[in-house]
Amino acid sequence: MRKNYLLTPGPTPLPPEVCQALGKPIIHHRTPQFQAILKEAGEGLKYVFQTQNDVFILTSSGTGAMEAAVANLLSPQDTAITVEGGKFGERWTELCKAYGVGAEVIKVEWGKVVDPSEIEKRLQANPGIKAVFTTLCETSTGVATDIEAIGKIVAKYKAVLVVDAISGLGAIDLKADAWGVDVCVSGSQKGFMLPPGLAFISVSKKAWDLVSASKNPRYYFDLTTARKALQKTDTPFTPAISLVIALVEVLRMMKQEGLENIFKRHSLMASATKSAMKALGLELFAPSAPSEAVTAVNVPAGIDGEKLVKTMRDVYGVTIAGGQSELKGKVFRFAHMGFIEEFDIIAGISCLEKVLKEMGYAFELGAGVKAAEEVFSKK
Ligand SMILES: *Cc1c(COP(=O)(O)O)cnc(C)c1O
Repeated sequence: MRKNYLLTPGPTPLPPEVCQALGKPIIHHRTPQFQAILKEAGEGLKYVFQTQNDVFILTSSGTGAMEAAVANLLSPQDTAITVEGGKFGERWTELCKAYGVGAEVIKVEWGKVVDPSEIEKRLQANPGIKAVFTTLCETSTGVATDIEAIGKIVAKYKAVLVVDAISGLGAIDLKADAWGVDVCVSGSQKGFMLPPGLAFISVSKKAWDLVSASKNPRYYFDLTTARKALQKTDTPFTPAISLVIALVEVLRMMKQEGLENIFKRHSLMASATKSAMKALGLELFAPSAPSEAVTAVNVPAGIDGEKLVKTMRDVYGVTIAGGQSELKGKVFRFAHMGFIEEFDIIAGISCLEKVLKEMGYAFELGAGVKAAEEVFSKK
């Protein structure tokens, strides 16, 4: 017998209400019954996205909505800025390449955050730039981007601001309308506490103007088709009906807790986690702009980072994430997004300590748990 704890930056644990909703008998999607669900989901998404614009529900993982953004906004030979400070920033560049769009890449050292003035410089130098692609929470490095500052800049130009908020939304603040985010993309398996399979995308008026002019090929992810369907409270293709039903459940929970409280809870989880790491003598990978959705930690010298993650998972049932690409074996990522509270963090830190001890890392057993508990008892 063993319990499993999921502390990864997607997928994240499911609340029991979600599991129950997922177990309901299937219904048909072209029915008034499902239309009511779709309507409630759309309204709830607007609340979480903090937007008045339509939010579309796509049946795909989060990357599908990223692809939809590139396919619907741009044309071959267009130029767009991409901010590459990690694996997910790189995905924007790769998508632009796949669609023949020229990417002006702003390279940011992994673990550092983009300087918004760098974006302004590029926009000034090239007024033809159509879009700026950024990432709210760069999940591979644990960095949170200052979207509000970037939004203020991009609003002055012809370009639209597109944000990959797949791992940040529903965990850390993003005010799509107030911050001038034209297109915001998210997915179901991170802050939204659902299984993978749904992607979300909001589209502003400024972005719709680009959609009308865009010549990129698209079919399944054509937002104009999606918009026509939405006007009739419908979807162009068969939606992931059960996931949408569970989404409504989640959105009710999120509304009940309230966005401000959700952000506060994530902030508390992040600060307890950081405090524990510090007490264990561990260093954060991205101390200058740490995300409150996931904490990336440097693997200490002499410890095998991949073995650490594997042992926690395979021996003790606590799953955290290792490093991706160039960070493989060099960092581990301890996520605290979605359906996570105090004792999940305590369990995760406790397991981390246990395995670090077994691997010969020198520290005082219990120091991390104590530090986390101190943060929680001060709240
Ligand atoms: C998880 C993640 C993605 C990829 O989403 P998929 O659902 O795996 O397609 C993209 N961007 C960020 C920031 C993520 O955290």
